[in-house]
Amino acid sequence: MIATQETIDATAAIFDDLRCQKNTSLDNLLETPDGRRILSCIQCGTCAGTCPYGEHMDYPPRRIINMLQRGLIDEVFRSDSMLRCVSCYACMAKCPRNIRLSDVLLPLVKEQTLIHLTEMPAELQKSLQNTLRYGNPMGESSRKRAAWTATAGVPVPTIGEKGGVADILWFVECYTSYYARGQDNSRATARLFHALGLDFAILGNEEKCAGDCGQLTWESGLFETLTDYNMVVFGKYKFKRLVTGDPHAFNAFRIRYPLFGFDYPVDHTTPLLHGHLDRLKPMLKKKLDCTVTYHDSCCLGRRAGCYEPPRELLRAIPGVKLVEMTHNRVNAICCGGGGGGMWLDTFFKAKGMERLSERRIREAIRTGADVLAVSCPYEISRFEDALKTVGHDKPIVVRDVVELLADSLGD
Ligand code: SF4
Ligand code: SF4
Repeated sequence: MIATQETIDATAAIFDDLRCQKNTSLDNLLETPDGRRILSCIQCGTCAGTCPYGEHMDYPPRRIINMLQRGLIDEVFRSDSMLRCVSCYACMAKCPRNIRLSDVLLPLVKEQTLIHLTEMPAELQKSLQNTLRYGNPMGESSRKRAAWTATAGVPVPTIGEKGGVADILWFVECYTSYYARGQDNSRATARLFHALGLDFAILGNEEKCAGDCGQLTWESGLFETLTDYNMVVFGKYKFKRLVTGDPHAFNAFRIRYPLFGFDYPVDHTTPLLHGHLDRLKPMLKKKLDCTVTYHDSCCLGRRAGCYEPPRELLRAIPGVKLVEMTHNRVNAICCGGGGGGMWLDTFFKAKGMERLSERRIREAIRTGADVLAVSCPYEISRFEDALKTVGHDKPIVVRDVVELLADSLGD
C-alpha cells in the first residue's frame, strides 16, 4: 500500500489527536478510548503482514488482539514475541482501524512480557541499567555529557551560562553527546544553528536521556524516573521551544511528556532547519557532487509524518542528486534499532533473524548512491555496522542530513 502525503498527514493527525492515558494498564485498557478502537479490529492481518519480523512472532499484533478479546492474553506474556518488536510503527501506520498498536497496546504487552521473562537479553539489560544509573545507555559519566562542545568549532552555551534564558533549548540526547560519530551530528547542528543566528542553549551535564526506549522497551518505571528528572530541570529555565536531533526523543516529548505537564512546542532538527530553508539555502555554497538516497526514520517518518522536509533540505544542497530506495516514506524498512532493538542484535542473531539494518543497507546499495542520508543518530551506527558485513562493490557512506548541510556551508 503506497500512501500519499495527504493520507500520511491525516494518519499522523489521527494518532496525535488521541492522547495517551497516563494510567492505562492491560486490565483497564478495553474501557479507554484506545481500548474501544482495539475492539474494532477486523482481524485483517495487515499489521502482521507489514511487520518486518512478523514471521518470527508467535503472536503478531493481530493475534495479540485476538487473545486479548478471548481473555487469553496471559499466554502472550509467556511467549517472547514482543522481544522481536522494534517499535517501527509500520503496523500502526497501516492499520485500517487506526488502532494505536505501537504507542499503546504493544508497550503494555512488552511490559508484561518482561515480568514473565526468565532471562532478559544481556545487552538490553545492561543498557537499561546504565540509563537508570548514569542517565545514558552507554554507562558514560554524566560529567562528560557536554565534553563534545569543546570540539564544536563554535560556541555551544549551556542555558545556565546564558542566565537561564534562551529561545531554543537544544536537547542533545545520548548518542549525539557520547558516541564519536554521533558527536559529528552535534557539531554540524551547532554550526548550522550559528549560521542561522538562532538563540540556542543546551542543558550540558544536567541533561539525562529522554527515556523513549525505556518507555517502549517495557520499562515504564524507568521512563517515569527520567521524565520526573527532566521535568524538574526544564522547570529551572525559560525557553520558547525544545529542539532535538533524536527522533525517538522528539516523539517522547511530543506524545508522552505532555502527560507529565510538559507543554513546550517541540521540533526535530530536520523540520526546524527546513523551516529556515529560505535563509539557509543561500549559505549552501559548496557543491557536494554526490548521489544521495534518504532513509526515513520510523519515528520521524511513520510516527510524525515528516517525509518531505529532509528531502527538500537535501535537494537544496548544490551538486546533490536524490534517488529513492524501493521502500520509502511510509513503506520504509526499519533499521531495527527502535524499541530496544539497538541492544538486541545478539538476541536476533541467536534466533536466526536477519538484521534489519543489513536488509535496508542492501536496498540503499542497489540505488547506486554514494551516500545514505539519515535523520536519526541511531541509524549512523546501525548502518555503518551493517556496511561492514554486507558486500558492496561501490563505496557508500552514511551521513546525517545535518552533516551534509554543514559540509555545504560557505565560509
Ligand atoms: S491491521 Fe488493525 S484491524 Fe487489521 S488485524 Fe491488525 S490491528 Fe486488527
Ligand atoms: S511496531 Fe513494527 S516491529 Fe513492532 S509489531 Fe508493529 S510492525 Fe512489528
